[in-house]
Amino acid sequence: MRIAVDLNRCQGYAQCAFLAPDVFVMHGDEALLYDPDADEAQRAKVAQAAAACPVQAILVDAVDTGGAVATADASAEVVSGAR
Ligand code: SF4
Repeated sequence: MRIAVDLNRCQGYAQCAFLAPDVFVMHGDEALLYDPDADEAQRAKVAQAAAACPVQAILVDAVDTGGAVATADASAEVVSGAR
């Protein structure tokens, strides 16, 4: 599954790291590291993390591998997690 986190929106609340620790890891107080290609087995936990994110920074299956952007929610913003 593909995951993107809008790191401009992310405020480091760490809800995602608590709910899906195999995918999201806090690095220091505010930096978030995550696996953009998380294992399918993590889907339920990632969905919980996305729902719990206070700023809706987590997008699931919103980015395809070809670089094109497709979102289910037209108002969603997609920003690459790579920095
Ligand atoms: S829950 Fe949202 S705001 Fe908090 S660290 Fe995760 S992505 Fe960032």
